[in-house]
Amino acid sequence: MGKGFFQVPTAVNEPIKSYAPGTPEREEVLKTYKELWNSTVEVPLYIGSEEIKTGDTTTMHPPHDHQHNLGTFHKANKSHVEKAISTALEARTKWADLEWEQRAAIFLKAADLIAGPYRSKINAATMIGQSKNIFQAEIDSACELIDFLTFNVEYMAQIYEEQPESLPGTWNRLEYRPLEGFVYAITPFNFTAIAGNLPASAALMGNVVVWKPSDSQVYSAQVIMEIFKEAGLPDGVINMVMGDPVMITDTVLASRDFSGVHFTGSTDVFKGIWEKIGKNIHNYKTYPRIVGETGGKDFILAHPSARPKQVATAISRGAFEFQGQKCSAASRVYIPKSMWEEVKGYVVEDVNSFKMGSPEDMKNFITAVIHEGSFDKLASYIDQAKEDKDAEIVVGGDYDKSKGYFIQPTVILTTNPKYSTMCTELFGPVVTIYVYEDNQWEETLKLVDDSIYGLTGAILSQDRYAAAQATKALQNAAGNFYINDKPTGAVVGQQPFGGARASGTNDKAGSKLNLLRWVSPRVIKETFVTPTDYRYPFMGE
Ligand code: NAD
Repeated sequence: MGKGFFQVPTAVNEPIKSYAPGTPEREEVLKTYKELWNSTVEVPLYIGSEEIKTGDTTTMHPPHDHQHNLGTFHKANKSHVEKAISTALEARTKWADLEWEQRAAIFLKAADLIAGPYRSKINAATMIGQSKNIFQAEIDSACELIDFLTFNVEYMAQIYEEQPESLPGTWNRLEYRPLEGFVYAITPFNFTAIAGNLPASAALMGNVVVWKPSDSQVYSAQVIMEIFKEAGLPDGVINMVMGDPVMITDTVLASRDFSGVHFTGSTDVFKGIWEKIGKNIHNYKTYPRIVGETGGKDFILAHPSARPKQVATAISRGAFEFQGQKCSAASRVYIPKSMWEEVKGYVVEDVNSFKMGSPEDMKNFITAVIHEGSFDKLASYIDQAKEDKDAEIVVGGDYDKSKGYFIQPTVILTTNPKYSTMCTELFGPVVTIYVYEDNQWEETLKLVDDSIYGLTGAILSQDRYAAAQATKALQNAAGNFYINDKPTGAVVGQQPFGGARASGTNDKAGSKLNLLRWVSPRVIKETFVTPTDYRYPFMGE
């Protein structure tokens, strides 16, 4: 067969469509939304070439209209999970042996399918199943997923190109093998792009995958599987199983061939998985790779020199877009006393202008939170803030789950920098403000840094010395640090994403660093004229 050093197409960030009134994309996505809304689906397990309907099902409902029926998904029992593992392992040799450019072509094709014929479907499914407004769906399920797929192909090529030196008489080659076994991808509800990327990035590097999506994201996960199949992903490379997360995880981690976990979700769940891997460590063929991006308590810190309107906008967008359910969402804010009244005025005005309701009505900026458990938790923190002496509700504070899980965007003001909502990840449209004395800047830097998390954070300052000082003092407080911006909205290829501390292993999704976790390099040294005498010159008479 002919060979070549193929150059992959240059990755370019997918342009975000506007969906402004009168645009064709708006008409198309609304049409698809209606079609999906008025039909039901039955999501099977995808194991190899089989689509398995186990009969043990869960019904799916849009968070913004929980009585509306979207259909069901089937749940696995232990034997299905074992079958997913054995099917993945059977597919492994052929997949790992396939030329890299063939693997790349599959995922580039998937990206183009999303950019074109599947765009409205994956966006509408994300709007319905995860209650995202069209802009949030577009930047996630279309643009970010496309970017993950195309940029990862470019990063894969860069990795393969990286080769060691060779001295005369020898040739050193570095071969990037997939892991010896299978990878387990566990994905969260909040980003369709992450759901697609965690299995796809490992598969791109030649691995086979068992993928467990979140129960609250199965509706759009099925569209991802449909696209991967349409793109020509061979059967058995990515196997999707739903069901009891503990049973599925225990079954996967019990396999001798488990070689890595690619997780995104909450901190405690990840720590629990890590602990189980530790307990099973003597059973594995190879040390498993453990990659997890987890919770956050992301901050905005305003310096007295900052512009109040900019601070307010960073809060309104950074804390409330997608109902605050981004891992990067601002949830604790530090504002100097001299600025607070002005910032408060702008934020209250913004929040009172937000429209809330179904994403089908595109005037709505805010829709529902993901499920009843999240709604109840958020409502209880809001109620507590109404009671507590060291907290008050500045704006918002209402909630209503009669039709959907609607929490009014809420701003809490506290006099206690360690108040519960300043420290606990709530994952909803609730932000807490702590007002500091202007002359307490250095102490405030220490307060901001004193968090178990380290995901995202932003400093707003017109004073360059203060910005530089914060950049240094908060070096470990955030893996994605923003100057004069909101702490959300990382773009693949521009701001590789992830944090350390309790926020994750910081392997930076959408970068070469992440892909390196899914390969196990082998060095091959070849000598051209092989020595025939063991004696070295120094041993001469
Ligand atoms: P989650 O932890 O509830 O669920 C994540 C996945 O883990 C789901 O597939 C779930 O079914 C599974 N799971 C739940 N319990 C499990 C268990 N005991 N054993 C094994 N698997 C289990 O998280 P979520 O609510 O879907 O997502 C929100 C969380 O994800 C937040 O904490 C957020 O900060 C985090 N997140 C982080 C990033 C990041 O890049 N750091 C990105 C997105 C989301």
